[in-house]
Amino acid sequence: MSVIERNIEEMKEELKQRFVTTAQINYGRELSGLDEHEIYETLAQVVKQYTSENWIKTNKQYQENDEKQVYYFSIEFLLGRLLNTNLINLDLKNALKAMLKELNLDLNNLYSEEPDAGLGNGGLGRLAACFVDSMASLGLPAHGCGIRYQYGLFEQKIVNDQQVEIPDNWLRNGFAWEFRKPNKAVKVRLDGEAYMRINDDGTSTAVHEGYTEVTAVPYDVPVIGYKNRTVNTLRLWNAEAGQDFSDYATLTNDEIKERQEYRNNVNKITEFLYPEDSTNEGKRLRLIQEYFFVSAGVQSIVRHYMQTHDDLYGFADKVCIQINDTHPAVAVAELMRVFIDDYGMEWDDAWDITRNTVAYTNHTILPEALEKWDRKLFKKLLPRIDMIIDEINRRFLYEVRSKYPNDEELVRELSILQDGQVHMARLAVVGSFSVNGVARLHSNILKESTLKYFYKYFPEKFNNKTNGITHRRWMISANNDLAHVIDDKLTRAWRGDTRMMKQLNQYVDNPAFLKSIDKVKRARKRALAQYVLTHNKVRIKVDSMFDVQVKRIHSYKRQLMNIMHIMYQYDRLKNDPTYNMPVPVVYFFGGKAAPGYFIAKETIRLILAVANKINTDPSIDGKIKVVFLENFGVSLGEMVYPAADVSEQISTASKEASGTGNMKFMMNGAITLGTMDGANVEIHEQVGDDNCVIFGMRSEEVINLYEHGGYSAWDEYNTNANVRKVMNQMTDGTYGNFQSLFDYLVNSNDEFFIMKDFNAYIEAHEEIVRRYQNHNAWLRSCAVNIANSGIFSSDRTIAEYAEDIWNIKPVDIK
Ligand SMILES: *Cc1c(COP(=O)(O)O)cnc(C)c1O
Repeated sequence: MSVIERNIEEMKEELKQRFVTTAQINYGRELSGLDEHEIYETLAQVVKQYTSENWIKTNKQYQENDEKQVYYFSIEFLLGRLLNTNLINLDLKNALKAMLKELNLDLNNLYSEEPDAGLGNGGLGRLAACFVDSMASLGLPAHGCGIRYQYGLFEQKIVNDQQVEIPDNWLRNGFAWEFRKPNKAVKVRLDGEAYMRINDDGTSTAVHEGYTEVTAVPYDVPVIGYKNRTVNTLRLWNAEAGQDFSDYATLTNDEIKERQEYRNNVNKITEFLYPEDSTNEGKRLRLIQEYFFVSAGVQSIVRHYMQTHDDLYGFADKVCIQINDTHPAVAVAELMRVFIDDYGMEWDDAWDITRNTVAYTNHTILPEALEKWDRKLFKKLLPRIDMIIDEINRRFLYEVRSKYPNDEELVRELSILQDGQVHMARLAVVGSFSVNGVARLHSNILKESTLKYFYKYFPEKFNNKTNGITHRRWMISANNDLAHVIDDKLTRAWRGDTRMMKQLNQYVDNPAFLKSIDKVKRARKRALAQYVLTHNKVRIKVDSMFDVQVKRIHSYKRQLMNIMHIMYQYDRLKNDPTYNMPVPVVYFFGGKAAPGYFIAKETIRLILAVANKINTDPSIDGKIKVVFLENFGVSLGEMVYPAADVSEQISTASKEASGTGNMKFMMNGAITLGTMDGANVEIHEQVGDDNCVIFGMRSEEVINLYEHGGYSAWDEYNTNANVRKVMNQMTDGTYGNFQSLFDYLVNSNDEFFIMKDFNAYIEAHEEIVRRYQNHNAWLRSCAVNIANSGIFSSDRTIAEYAEDIWNIKPVDIK
């Protein structure tokens, strides 16, 4: 009998037996002698016992039925903690809770024993984590492939009102959910020299010599589907020194030193996640990381395929590799290398198969984030790959020139190799059959500007897949009480199909329904207020409006505009007797700045300086509070998103490809205050003007200003009194010295139009406060947002990928 069909009493007894036995086996002690961490570890082991059987079955069935399988390649997977979502997906939670209760243990105290797996920077990495959850929950034969970083994204500490970065040693006590698979290791080759050798019969063979070989060892994490027996695999690769050290005694000192150096270099490969968000981190080690996990992933996929097939000609019918942004784009060349060098395939056949296997998702139009590598570095590190890319480009440009003779501008814009650089996005487009953006607006911008030459050449490849979030984590797990409110109206069926949430629209005028939403929201706000009292030592009123901006700190996301508005408001409260704030507002910020990103760190410093001043000023009677939430990550997000009244989504129009935080807020009943950017456009479309507040420049205006100029930050400063007032306070000592930010705004000519959008932003705040004052109308808006958020479940997104790009269907695991 499967897990999902058992009754709770039976389950409880079985769980208890396994729990006690596992504790004895692991620790040789009785339960009562274990500390909280040991209890957590034991619990995780028990949960794993329930997944193993189905994991084996899933793999067996995929292989025996020769199912087409998808591999989602991503350099980041921002998983967060897995215990609660695994329990929900296995439908073990209630039985387990009851079992623990009988043993006088509280499940709620155990979650924090799990490290928060921070193998990603922000939205892109979190998207990959949401996607693998949806792939398993929809029963799709689709897996994740990434890197097992020894250190995840740094831990952020606030010291002396500034960000300090602490290494995230998340594996300190082990990671309960992973399985090391040394027998599935593969070898990855770096450096050395590559050339073509002409054979006696006139054919040629690629030779790669003098390389360094690294062993890639997979650590598999089971990805458990929601109540469906599917258990897919997230395969994270670890770099290890492959050499045998048994001959140590026979080595000379120099040889020993050489080996130690080799070992150190290898260990560095998967040691750190690069803490850059949406800028191109041009580091050698980063390129090694990219090739390392892609080569390991590709080799293991091909090897697995060949276990059940005689040749590779049908490969593209059975395998799809979806690449999450360009970091894995080298997969195009690596597939070619494996097909040609390892399996003796002809170029044309190999190219045909490669191009029909790879699909590319673009995540950014920020020019500094479009990944390019110095050709010399590329050639030195990956000599054979460099040769292959050169040949791909040569043949491609030949084709371009024959199709569009005398259009050298087109040739230049399409060339993968240009000005001594390798353009990864271009490689990805040329070597794939599908190119998608992550929100409708973003996909259109790709076609019209960022990739317009490619759109002209390959129009059929382009499509849109608007991002989503897994509602299982971001609502059912993070805001279980809200999920229950919805159950009361729709039964639990909506949990498996969020399209049903639309039916909640019939209750948005039902007072009892609104009251229950209100109750849940207040409870979440109270919990956050308690957290803030403990961690920030700031007391906030729960009936304040909670206005929240949590996300990576980046100029284009405009946290600076947000804090400047707070400065404006505080100044008026102090100096303008006609000004009043009808409701108290708590402004929350959270997010990490890349360690080398000066302006982002200065923005944090300004937020903290403003918070210190305002929070301790008794004269404003607590009308404004400012809270910076330290170390924002998945776990903190699970507390924050459900507690928000207002969701700040204020990026410069055209710059945020999609955003996913915006969807988490919406699903938990916050009202969006935002620009017409990324998926905000589609949120607006779902709820209408009455249920979100849109302000500021539109993307066409922004793009037009970038292209044709005509904007002067100085003119704005001189003519806009609100802007001038606040900017002067950056340097006049009101909050300390922030000349840095003043100069940034002026010298960059206000690159993200903070000054230009400022007055519109002030008005948007006035509007949202006006709305908040009408409590019932506000609750109705919350309900409308929740009711129309189902489309933003990543289940919808992944169903679209499966249907339009991957061509796969759910598999019922028997
Ligand atoms: C969802 C999420 C993000 C992305 O937020 P945006 O507002 O879309 O930038 C970043 N970090 C964490 C921890 C998240 O959960």
